[in-house]
Amino acid sequence: MPIYEYICQSCGHQFEKIVKLNESPNCPSCDSSELEKQFTGAVVSTSRSRAKSFQEARGRASSIKKEKDHAQAEYERNYIKDHS
Ligand SMILES: [Zn+2]
Repeated sequence: MPIYEYICQSCGHQFEKIVKLNESPNCPSCDSSELEKQFTGAVVSTSRSRAKSFQEARGRASSIKKEKDHAQAEYERNYIKDHS
């Protein structure tokens, strides 16, 4: 469940709230529903998933490199065989 950070447009109160789907919270200070949603929670999860996809990309790159090395070794073996 996502935690959102809100700033109340009415009284300026800033608070974090776990928000269920389609639920719109009210300010705990003045009960106004004029809230500006901040994106602190989203930033954390985005950077976390970015780090994960970076690792996946690195994993892919290293397996591609292994295949390339293998192909190179194969090529050299065939070359030596054909030219000896
Ligand atoms: Zn308020």
